[in-house]
Amino acid sequence: MLSVTDLQKTYPSGDEALKGVSIDVTGSETVAMIGPSGAGKSTFIRCVNRLTEPSGGSVELDGVEVTALSSDDLREARRDMGMIFQEYNLVERLTVMENVLSGRLGYVSTWQAFRRNFPPEDVERAYEVLDRVGLADHENNRADELSGGQRQRVGIARAILQRPKILLVDEPTSSLDPETSKAVMDLLTEIAAEDDIPVLINIHEVDLAQEYAERIVGLRDGELVFEGTPDDLDETA
Ligand code: ADP
Ligand code: ADP
Repeated sequence: MLSVTDLQKTYPSGDEALKGVSIDVTGSETVAMIGPSGAGKSTFIRCVNRLTEPSGGSVELDGVEVTALSSDDLREARRDMGMIFQEYNLVERLTVMENVLSGRLGYVSTWQAFRRNFPPEDVERAYEVLDRVGLADHENNRADELSGGQRQRVGIARAILQRPKILLVDEPTSSLDPETSKAVMDLLTEIAAEDDIPVLINIHEVDLAQEYAERIVGLRDGELVFEGTPDDLDETA
């Protein structure tokens, strides 16, 4: 379970992106975070795994106080948090397989230094997740040869490689056309359900949030302004 309490972020610019936001994500539910551009959604996701340092508040994942960890321990804890990004964050010149295995390190940028050191069981696991996202035949393609939908499927494969305790997903469909967006959301929610992984997802398309999430939270100007089911949202609108 992910428990976020009173999360705050003020950027050096003085922008108060989060003014004390608390949410829990429990069991294997999918929680969608919606809100207009600039509401603080992306800051929230990035503060949960401390890609951005929060200014206050706490993040706890399965009893581990993420906000209190030293950087070494944080590296370890990030393996439990599968991240999926809007712009995929793939390394263009590396192959699909290499990109998936790069998640093994938590940091994409340091992967190349370690590329020869992967134990066979990791490689085997990578084949398994590539198969699940339908890219088993593309393991040797370079990332820059793939379509947007394929790239996001690599992103999903990388995120689930290490059997995370939660998936943190930041606008996964905003670079995709509507049809591909739905295919990606189908795949993502299907895998999360099969593996019992809770999902926290930022998404600005309200219809997708309503279709795929069990619970919706609304953010505006760094504050929580709505929390309810997809049906509750219809009644508020
Ligand atoms: P959303 O994801 O909902 O569009 P963001 O979290 O990206 O919102 O942004 C929330 C607020 O924080 C905005 O006012 C934005 O300009 C500001 N912000 C985001 N990232 C930074 C940054 N790196 N430095 C300064 N301000 C930022
Ligand atoms: P920055 O956030 O300033 O870009 P980082 O060293 O935190 O620098 O991250 C480098 C790159 O790797 C970024 O593009 C970031 O989004 C990505 N990244 C960091 N942590 C993870 C992770 N746990 N899983 C996947 N990608 C990550």
